[in-house]
Amino acid sequence: MNIQNIRKDFPILKQEIYGKPLIYLDNAATTQKPVSVIEAMNDLYFRLNSNIHRGVHYLSEESTSAHENARKYIADFIHAKHTHEIIFTRGTTEAVNLVAFSFGEKNIQQGDEILVTEMEHHSNFVPWKMLAERKSAKLIVLPFEEDGSLSLEKFQSAITEKTKIISITHVSNVLGTINPVKEMIRIAHEADVPVFVDAAQSIQHLSVDVQDLDCDFLAFSGHKIYGPTGIGVLYGKEKLLDEMPPYQGGGEMISSVSLDKITYNELPFKFEAGTPNYVAAIGLQAAIKYLEDIGMQDVIKYEHDLFAYATEQLLQIEGLKMIGTAKKKTSVLSFVMDGIHPYDMGTMLDKTGIAVRSGTHCAEPVMQHYGISGTIRASVALYNTKAEIDKLVENLNKIQMILS
Ligand code: PMP
Repeated sequence: MNIQNIRKDFPILKQEIYGKPLIYLDNAATTQKPVSVIEAMNDLYFRLNSNIHRGVHYLSEESTSAHENARKYIADFIHAKHTHEIIFTRGTTEAVNLVAFSFGEKNIQQGDEILVTEMEHHSNFVPWKMLAERKSAKLIVLPFEEDGSLSLEKFQSAITEKTKIISITHVSNVLGTINPVKEMIRIAHEADVPVFVDAAQSIQHLSVDVQDLDCDFLAFSGHKIYGPTGIGVLYGKEKLLDEMPPYQGGGEMISSVSLDKITYNELPFKFEAGTPNYVAAIGLQAAIKYLEDIGMQDVIKYEHDLFAYATEQLLQIEGLKMIGTAKKKTSVLSFVMDGIHPYDMGTMLDKTGIAVRSGTHCAEPVMQHYGISGTIRASVALYNTKAEIDKLVENLNKIQMILS
């Protein structure tokens, strides 16, 4: 992997912020886009733009087939058995809401239990809480251990005969923990409970194979895997998706409409009401192709080494406490510093050209667990370098001296 060539693929990284070279370490929030992604979308607008699925003319047929090829490409990338198991959404959030609403409508009754963990992003917490409230069901929250890992024993005992669905994050966006989702799914399936995997923070850093995991649902967002905003993916097993009612009504999701009867379309269209974001779907395909052309295994290895280096260097800073110290982690480094508010550190780092995120990262229960108001979060991607980590450490030390 030639990192300098890779960096050249991302035009945004070339700029200076306040006269300092940009060091972008906010990749868990969103990743930057390579030229190939931007060009794929521009090309569609320049040459082929036309609403899909509805036209008989050349442009419509071409953009429809580009859209459906993107679906096939994504299905292959995550090893889905069928292309129609890929539903395009606006992102992970919409995918969770879709399942919480549609699966929930059909399968959750009063007194049933929905199991999530304490480390979920609000996107994978609030929709389930809303479902529980709508149905007078119970949202059970599995706490995490002090190091930010999940206990498989506690997970197993949290499943009861009332548990109807489990939703867990593959990688925590605050703690960086890689959860043992394959093992958790196996345990859940022993009790016949389907599992939803939030892959928003894993899809870009790990190999994700839905058949190997045997997950029932899985979701991710395009913008976190070097693709555009406004597009995401819900994977669901054919049988489950087939049995679920539509989530939104409108064009595309119907096969026929008369004044007194509506017949719904087949998968995947049943869940794709309205004009889809076909331009972004093509951008997402280009992003995945970009990763595959580099080689996912090379990316994983590079990021693993960079992450280990960053962890080691950060831990040498006096007064810095890492939040989340599980054995298996990726990409995300959350920390607090003695006597320094995360917002102050984030603001001052910005003046040195370094973009990190500070706050609760849409995971307030994690903050409550540790009794903190927020963390500073640096998150790495395939274009970051050890030299950038050195600059981060140098500036953290300098700012610490100034602020204390
Ligand atoms: N889950 C996790 C673990 C996340 O990190 C995020 C985004 N920060 C989401 C869900 C929501 O993703 P989006 O806002 O793209 O829908």
